Amino acid sequence: MIPFLWRAYLGLGALIVGAYVFVPAGLGRDALYVAVGLSSAAAITLAVSLHRPLRRAPWWFMAGGIFAWSGGDALYSWFDHVRHTDPFPSAADALYLGAYVLFGAGFVLLVRGRRSGRDREGLIDSSIFTVALGLLSWVFLMRPTVADTAASGWERSIGLAYPLADVLLLGLLVRLVTSPGARTTSFRLLAAAGAALLAADSIFCVLNLYSSYDGGLVDLLWLASYVLWGAAALHPSMRTLSEPAPEPRVSFTRRRLLALTMASLTSPGTLAVQLLLGMVLDAWAVVLSSVVLFLLVIARMSGLLSHVQEQAGLLADLARTDSLTGLPNRRTADAELDRLRERADALALPLTVAMIDLDRFKLFNDTFGHQAGDRLLTETSNVWRSTLGRDLFLARYGGEEFVVLALGHTLEETATLINGLRQVTPAGQTFSAGVAQWDRPREGSGALLNRADLALYSAKRHGRDRVVTVDSTSTAASC
Ligand code: GH3
Ligand code: MG
Ligand code: MG
Repeated sequence: MIPFLWRAYLGLGALIVGAYVFVPAGLGRDALYVAVGLSSAAAITLAVSLHRPLRRAPWWFMAGGIFAWSGGDALYSWFDHVRHTDPFPSAADALYLGAYVLFGAGFVLLVRGRRSGRDREGLIDSSIFTVALGLLSWVFLMRPTVADTAASGWERSIGLAYPLADVLLLGLLVRLVTSPGARTTSFRLLAAAGAALLAADSIFCVLNLYSSYDGGLVDLLWLASYVLWGAAALHPSMRTLSEPAPEPRVSFTRRRLLALTMASLTSPGTLAVQLLLGMVLDAWAVVLSSVVLFLLVIARMSGLLSHVQEQAGLLADLARTDSLTGLPNRRTADAELDRLRERADALALPLTVAMIDLDRFKLFNDTFGHQAGDRLLTETSNVWRSTLGRDLFLARYGGEEFVVLALGHTLEETATLINGLRQVTPAGQTFSAGVAQWDRPREGSGALLNRADLALYSAKRHGRDRVVTVDSTSTAASC
């Protein structure tokens, strides 16, 4: 029964909203209106005790906001139908504006719960939308209110507070919609409720300023917002609405890029429309919003750039490094050999290459297991790395094969250094090595490595556990 409660509420709400159109204006219709509002606040309260979400505060704030809003509606209706007055501002406005504060607090707490980290991007994106829509609100709603000389300063301030509160609430709604976290039915219903509320508010403001408001259709949007809000709370997925996303989201989609572009173009667009239509220019508002939008876009870009750089660095490290031992891998060794050949040539220094292969390593694996083999490879790499020091380049060339590149070391010096590794190799493991000196400048990297490899094979053939050097005429000599 509980899982379908939201559907029943939504269905019944839709029926009432549909029927509302046919109810004649008057106290009865207003009572129906307030009843829908109160039912929404009651639905949220009931939902909190039914679904027991981890974070309840956002829902309490939202229920409080709807309750205050309905109180404002009731009070306004009383002024309208009982007292036959239309006071502005009145206590109803205090309740309406108080409701904004409560909605805002609810949204802020929801967003806070949903993001797992700092979500700087989300904050910047929603600020971009808020500034863009703030400009539109200023041009069409706020400035005409400020410019209304027939109204007192107090009336104008309260009149201004509504579109201002709408812009801020819209910013929070965008923040909620773009926040990481579950995109559940409850989430969608809540987003729709917020959108309906803001659409109703904005249309009401526009009609109020530019025509004589008749109430009917805008009321339907407000009613829809109440019903959607209640249904969002009653849906069982409300429990996870304020929980962080299990997976970090994709931070930039094409859709978001398009939306951000449109938002950023609001400033020049406003100016263009005003120029084309011969309207009064809101030059300063356009200047201010453009500056803020530029700065926000640049902040967003710099964030993206450092993210991309970080990822590129990470990828480059991964591509360069052997995952088991942390040594440079074969790709890096090949590139390093090319680089060292150039350096050796330029500085007229000797360059030597040693290929090292662990002896009977398959047997080691078969005897002690692959894990032990892995450990031996890692330990061997570590100890060789520290023994050879910074001047010599050590890489894992393949399975149990390593390469040493020694710039500034002659064939004999390198052979002695490699021989020195025999004492430090862990677990009594032996190895064979072939050492070749670069025959500058005739020889390419491949040929040089090949000669070192041949020397290594010669070491294997001659009984393993030895270092074999090879001179430029390819005659291997044991060491
Ligand atoms: P030889 O003295 O002729 O070099 O004998 P070998 O057994 O060392 O040579 P072989 O080429 O027959 O076998 C190499 C073995 O190295 C086979 C493979 O199981 C082992 N090996 C290669 N890479 C890894 C690794 O990453 N971890 C472990 N544990 N073993 C590896
Ligand atoms: Mg081997
Ligand atoms: Mg091998």
